[in-house]
Amino acid sequence: MIRIEEALKIVSDNCKPGFSEGVLLVESLHRILAEDVISDMDMPPFDKSAVDGYACRMSDLTNELTIIETIPAGYFPLKQIGKGQCSKIMTGAKVPDGADCVIMIEQTQSIPENKVRFTGTTTSKNISHKAEDIQSGQIVIPKGTLIKPQHIALLASVGYPEPKVYKKPRVVILSTGSELVEPHKFPGPAQIRNSNAWQLQAQVLRTGALPNYLGIIGDSEEETDLAIKKAIAGNDVIILTGGVSMGDFDFVPEILKKNNVDILFEKILTKPGMPTVFGVHNKSFVFGLPGNPVSSFLIFEILVKPFLLQLMGINRDHSTLRLPLANDFKRKKADRLGLIPAKINPDGELIPVEYHGSAHVLSICEADFIFFVPIGISEFKKGERVDVRQI
Ligand code: AMP
Ligand code: MG
Repeated sequence: MIRIEEALKIVSDNCKPGFSEGVLLVESLHRILAEDVISDMDMPPFDKSAVDGYACRMSDLTNELTIIETIPAGYFPLKQIGKGQCSKIMTGAKVPDGADCVIMIEQTQSIPENKVRFTGTTTSKNISHKAEDIQSGQIVIPKGTLIKPQHIALLASVGYPEPKVYKKPRVVILSTGSELVEPHKFPGPAQIRNSNAWQLQAQVLRTGALPNYLGIIGDSEEETDLAIKKAIAGNDVIILTGGVSMGDFDFVPEILKKNNVDILFEKILTKPGMPTVFGVHNKSFVFGLPGNPVSSFLIFEILVKPFLLQLMGINRDHSTLRLPLANDFKRKKADRLGLIPAKINPDGELIPVEYHGSAHVLSICEADFIFFVPIGISEFKKGERVDVRQI
């Protein structure tokens, strides 16, 4: 039995990012960059007017200014500004040589014979200087970044119409349990619906990987063996649920071993989620998660998700935060890492979500966080900051 930190290290040490592929700009959303993105130009590429107005000299603001040119955005100014002169200029246009400020149109008055006068008392320069945002050759998005809409703008600006991203790993999902029926059926007297496999497909999808659900396996050695053989052939990751605890029909770890899966751990010190298995077979990775949907959900979030993100090359994960507790917290035993589904109130304080047991899926639907209660700690006071993971 090992602590989660050790389990995470074992999982991470075995994980190397996979292959990359070029994808169309918009399709790179939610993918992970497989290359450093380097700007091929300065941004702004020239001294640019930040307002609509008149480009002139700061030292000339008390004088009447003669308009010598009109500069729309996209037009290269031909005339240099001298003393007593200005050019009418639009937002985003190149500031002409000789000008050191742009006075806003709202702070001017037109006067006869093509002249203007500054009517304000002071003005900002209203110029965005060449390269003040980005320099040519600068790394603007590092490899391993999860691409958000803001990154798409940056990729477009610096000339990456087809960014390289990591390929999506194929993740096979299998549910074990002779009591399970699929959601479209009404369960018989001793049956329950399979919720895990569907939840897992959604969790896998949310990480950006490709789920491939292969169905329910009855609790027989033959069926389990056949399904595992099929699953470990040619897939990157296999996630099984159920059949990993101490019951007479929990065959999963044994059959994995028979199929030359090298089991690296079989139990972790978490509550819930103790019977969690991780193994390696050639280039495939196998996770055996507990059958109960709450346990399966939580262990996926804290163990499998970081693994999948690492497999897809992510370089940092922002999902762990520290939040203050809304109330005192107590638990009876402190021998395992507590994983408590939780939500926050409008003041940003954490409230554990009450649930009766690991099958209580209704209650975890309210949760947006997992609250970690460390081994050895059985109580926290209201207001204490605790580690949480956003889910
Ligand atoms: P197991 O880990 O196989 O001992 O299962 C633990 C509990 O989770 C049992 O009550 C199972 O009926 C339930 N369970 C197992 N697999 C699923 C599943 N796919 N969906 C919902 N509940 C499940
Ligand atoms: Mg079972």
